[in-house]
Amino acid sequence: MRRLAEVLEAVSQTSSKLQKIDLLASYLRSLSDEELRIACTYLTGAPFPAGEGRALNVGWSAIVEALLDLSGRPPEAMDQSYLRHGDLGSVAYDLLAHKTKTSLFTAPLTLPAVHAVFERMSAATGSGSRQMKLEALRSLFTDADPIEAKYLVRIITSDLRVGLKEGLLEEAIAKAFDRPVAEVRRANMLISDIGAVAVMARHGRLAEATLQLFRPFRFMLADTIFTPEEAFEDRADGAPPLLVEDKYDGIRAQVHHDGRRLAIFTRTLDEITSSFPELYQDLRALAPSYIIDGEIVAWRDGRAISFTQLQQRLRRKDPGALVDSVPVVMFVFDLLLLDSAPWLDRPLRERRDTLARLTFGRAVQEGYATSAAVPEELAVRFRDARDRGNEGLVIKRPESLYQPGKRGRQWVKLKEELATLDVVVVAAEHGHGKRAAVLSDVTFAVRDGERLAVIGKAYSGLTDAEILALTEWFRAHTIQDRGRVKVVEPKIVLEVAFDAVTRSDRHDSGYALRFPRIKRIRDDKTPEEINTLEDVVRIYERQGESRGGVSPRMGRGS
Ligand code: AMP
Repeated sequence: MRRLAEVLEAVSQTSSKLQKIDLLASYLRSLSDEELRIACTYLTGAPFPAGEGRALNVGWSAIVEALLDLSGRPPEAMDQSYLRHGDLGSVAYDLLAHKTKTSLFTAPLTLPAVHAVFERMSAATGSGSRQMKLEALRSLFTDADPIEAKYLVRIITSDLRVGLKEGLLEEAIAKAFDRPVAEVRRANMLISDIGAVAVMARHGRLAEATLQLFRPFRFMLADTIFTPEEAFEDRADGAPPLLVEDKYDGIRAQVHHDGRRLAIFTRTLDEITSSFPELYQDLRALAPSYIIDGEIVAWRDGRAISFTQLQQRLRRKDPGALVDSVPVVMFVFDLLLLDSAPWLDRPLRERRDTLARLTFGRAVQEGYATSAAVPEELAVRFRDARDRGNEGLVIKRPESLYQPGKRGRQWVKLKEELATLDVVVVAAEHGHGKRAAVLSDVTFAVRDGERLAVIGKAYSGLTDAEILALTEWFRAHTIQDRGRVKVVEPKIVLEVAFDAVTRSDRHDSGYALRFPRIKRIRDDKTPEEINTLEDVVRIYERQGESRGGVSPRMGRGS
């Protein structure tokens, strides 16, 4: 663990990409297979590979409690340190530099030893689990020196902050074991387990990585466009028309089926099969063995109903009466594996043609798709999609291959409120009047490299029930209590709508939002996926072109 921490420290201190790769590559080369697998996972800032469905589920309060206890420092020391660094890992470093409790038998922390503790923590459930996790943290921090603790905390909280993207790690693996980086990336894309990929790379077995049923992988995503014309930019004359699909406002879902087992996974690769029993029959009938991609939407009488209602279903393992009060339909728009053969590398046109031949029903339907050769057709399709209660359009190149985890121009999305931003809440404060008792006013930020840049505050848009639930969450996850204002763990992602972006000194991003309102809580997105300051600047510059507003410019004459 010591060497991993030192390598991460060194990586954070250089801005040279080549140097980072060199540092990582020589470190990786020196590890045993077992260590390599674990180290690579930790280098992505996660305790377990994505897609394994395991999580530590420890709150900041348990980490802080363990640190304070071992260091013998008062809570104010933690507050001051947090104010200085804004990072719990650095707080751990500060606090443990004063460690008072050491064990007679401290052993050097090896990666397999850390892994064993993480496994125990993730398996703990039920009433005694907080205590068990607290003990596990104490034992880790007892054996850790300050720099190890700094990175342990960052891995536990999944926030590494060293400027190390997974793409860079893939390059380092390629360099360490002298393999083409494209092969490493491809293997990682297919099995979503960078540690296993590194071991395969060392032994020359990258070609063996293939899609595996019941091992979910990342979804292909769409870039935002602001006008129908943009969908056709960079499109050669004579290129085939674009595929146009409704943008459903629901839960993105990847379904795996092998004739016996059926599993539904979300964008965060969590399994949600038990929440949607009314889909099982149709999903089983679709084909004997497949992986498909689509969206589960709350749907009644041929129209979408509100996403807030659908959210109630996500929070329940057993939907009970909600099956009737919030009916759902799954719209399938992609085919990724059929009868053991992966389809990712075939053009979308072929994937859709094959998809169309599967057996659909009422609960599972083929996503609606047409084509468009000119922007005016998109403008018409946009209005049709809106009439069905959908959010807008996703426009896809028929030749596009399915690239897991990729957000690019192969697929683009055109939404109603073209400018919405996904942001993370960094502070919450008491409201006024009837909201004085709840934490209804939130301050939120976008990502700017490793830091979070505050961009605005919002007071409206959530239901009373959502505000109550969030208040409870904020109270349990307050990092710093400044009286009215609680600084909270940056975990809750919101989608906010607004009328314009303005320049402003009020927030440290240098920008502010005019009339921000919360559209919804984005449980399906992680803080890593929120919009960036770059996106904000892009919207700011674009709105100038459209006379200061960001309302849709839906083609000529509309
Ligand atoms: P956003 O949530 O705004 O980042 O938009 C991307 C999301 O649109 C995806 O994660 C999907 O959940 C959703 N989506 C809705 N309809 C489609 C579609 N036809 N194709 C691809 N993604 C879609």
